[in-house]
Amino acid sequence: MVSVPVQCPHCHSTEVIKAGKQANGTQRYQCQNGQCERRIFLLQYQDRGRIPEIRRQVVDMAVNGSGIRDTARVLRISPTTVIAVLKKSSHASTRQPHVAPSSSTRRPCPRPATARRRA
Ligand SMILES: [Zn+2]
Repeated sequence: MVSVPVQCPHCHSTEVIKAGKQANGTQRYQCQNGQCERRIFLLQYQDRGRIPEIRRQVVDMAVNGSGIRDTARVLRISPTTVIAVLKKSSHASTRQPHVAPSSSTRRPCPRPATARRRA
């Protein structure tokens, strides 16, 4: 008999127990690490939108200015999944406040004099 250690995809702890099955029959696992924010995970996801690596890429692409449909096409997930991932991640991540563009860099440009219309 060969036993393969199951690792938590979040904290990489091997203190993992079986936690029932999905509706489609795949084994679910539960992380026993108290500090880990991820509890239930699967070894093999059927749904690409559930893979932690894909979800990270969704957030990365959004940060780099990709649109919902861009991201969906590149990562081969649905646009609704992209939106769902972004909604969830905005709660989890500690956001830095946006730095407002300083007014000193914007110079008021003098408007070129327009030809006066004849009356
Ligand atoms: Zn964990």
